[in-house]
Amino acid sequence: MVFPGLKKWAENNSWTVGKDRIYGEYNGYYFTAFDEQNLKCFVAALPVVTDEQKRAILSDLETHKKELGIGEFSLENSLLSVRLKEVLSPVTQEKMRNYLDHITTVLKEQKVSGTGHCFNCEQEVSTEKVLLNDILTPMCDDCYSKAVDAILQAERELETEDKNYPIGFLGALAGGIVGAIPWIIVSSFGWFVGWLGFLIGKAALKGYTLCKGRLGKATPWIIAGVTVFCVLLAEFVSFSLMIYIQASQEGIPFSLDLLLLILTAEGVPGEILLNVGIGIVIALVGISPLFKGINQEVKYMVPRVEKI
Ligand SMILES: [Zn+2]
Repeated sequence: MVFPGLKKWAENNSWTVGKDRIYGEYNGYYFTAFDEQNLKCFVAALPVVTDEQKRAILSDLETHKKELGIGEFSLENSLLSVRLKEVLSPVTQEKMRNYLDHITTVLKEQKVSGTGHCFNCEQEVSTEKVLLNDILTPMCDDCYSKAVDAILQAERELETEDKNYPIGFLGALAGGIVGAIPWIIVSSFGWFVGWLGFLIGKAALKGYTLCKGRLGKATPWIIAGVTVFCVLLAEFVSFSLMIYIQASQEGIPFSLDLLLLILTAEGVPGEILLNVGIGIVIALVGISPLFKGINQEVKYMVPRVEKI
């Protein structure tokens, strides 16, 4: 999310408000700003920077660090990142303006190219506003189409790359079965076990990664499928075990017929369904952050580019 300080800056300066950041132009340069803990980070995408210009910019920032309220700064891969501190008081609109006025003056003095050059090919061409990995950059049409093609290519390669799904699946199954043991033990005492579903889900994912299953689009489905299966298995085994223990206590021989008889007795299917249903829901809720993690990881394996 974007905090009020940056939101206000975006409104006053016609910058764009994104999901967790703002971006826009200031004195001929593109900036992206976002909140961090006790800091506001401003990133300027500089298409062309020579070593000499880099030294001059860094030394100027070192000199004016205190006066501008700068915490840390760096200039790597043509990205000038400067973090304004807000330990005791928030960074005011005035402080943001002071910094941006100062840095854009320095950049102009050093003749560092801005929005008139393409961030990718470094040529002096007409550029458009392009988000490259969530950082606003000036990019020419040619480079933009090439970047889009390269990403499609990378995505295709990622999809066709061997994910080791079959072995990962077996690993998830083994993990899920191990994770089902607490369910079986607790349940055979007749206690409610639905909440133990999350253990099954986590163990299934652990098994998947231990067997070197790689993260891909099918991974969440494999884990979810194995989890549901193991919850059902755990409930079936623990139910059978419970009947077996009770039957032997009362001297009744245990048989499949007896199991079926009890399974279909009035009220029993409903009770089992409730336990299983809650178990599955809790298992899936328990592993849902992992799903999000997997999707994010898949997403971040390829660069992102978007015209705004
Ligand atoms: Zn270009």
